[in-house]
Amino acid sequence: MKYIKLVLSVTNDYQEALIAELLELEFDAFEQQDGKLITYISRERFSDVSRERIEQVLAAYPGEGHIQSEEVVADQNWNQEWERTIKAQRIGQFFVKPTWDNSTAPSNSILLEIDPKMAFGTGYHETTRLMLQLLPHVVKSGDLVMDAGTGTGVLSIAAIKLGAERAVAFDIDDWSIRNAQENVLINQVDRKVEVAKGSIEIVPDETEFDVILANINRNTIIDMLPSLVQHLKSDGMLVLSGLLISDKDTILEQEALKKLTLIQSIRENDWIALQFKIT
Ligand code: SAH
Repeated sequence: MKYIKLVLSVTNDYQEALIAELLELEFDAFEQQDGKLITYISRERFSDVSRERIEQVLAAYPGEGHIQSEEVVADQNWNQEWERTIKAQRIGQFFVKPTWDNSTAPSNSILLEIDPKMAFGTGYHETTRLMLQLLPHVVKSGDLVMDAGTGTGVLSIAAIKLGAERAVAFDIDDWSIRNAQENVLINQVDRKVEVAKGSIEIVPDETEFDVILANINRNTIIDMLPSLVQHLKSDGMLVLSGLLISDKDTILEQEALKKLTLIQSIRENDWIALQFKIT
């Protein structure tokens, strides 16, 4: 599969908002630089329509937003470029590192070995970091966890390492599924994490979860919310991210959340994660 690498010129203040919009258009990965946002999309998904659409989106931002360059890259090249940018990092109780990084985890941390490949969720994105910070407050020993939009599988792996009994991880993206399966094996949690291709419909109606994690994007979360809530146990916890601060009111107004209480809302840059409990 071939990818398109786009370099967008956009001022730093507007990069977060632009990333949120591009996620809706199914762009896969982002690298923020000074005055520039580098992003990738599969060639199949990048038609003339998306080009026009991106130009429209950019035109709506103040300043000189435009497509600086557009280049077709093979999978292989993209991986190599991408891998160079990934470094081990401490996130809350966790130490997240790719397998090609030789650093050792601090003794009081929980190691997550995540090879990001092309999937989003390297531990670098704010929303992944926010989810990982909330997880120790949410996951209890023996829990059944749903990981909607699993990406690299990072949240399922973290949940099992915190003592969860089982995680059901799903994603609509083929690359993410393959990547999640690999990472689940690397972390030796393959017996406890079920990775499935698809969306919420792959979960049997009657299955109820102690914890539901969904780090996707605003519109997908809004569409999925009634089903997510339906799958929560009566004392279950729901954690949402992939949301900007500006999405918070819209999310809190959702009918599906009427029976839930917001317990915690945490923030990094313009991104937030919200933790709910059934009341
Ligand atoms: N959970 C990971 C990845 C988040 S990125 C983390 O926290 O880092 C969001 C993921 O949701 C992507 O891998 C994307 O493919 C997936 N996704 C987008 N729409 C979806 C849908 N309707 N159903 C399931 N997964 C979806």
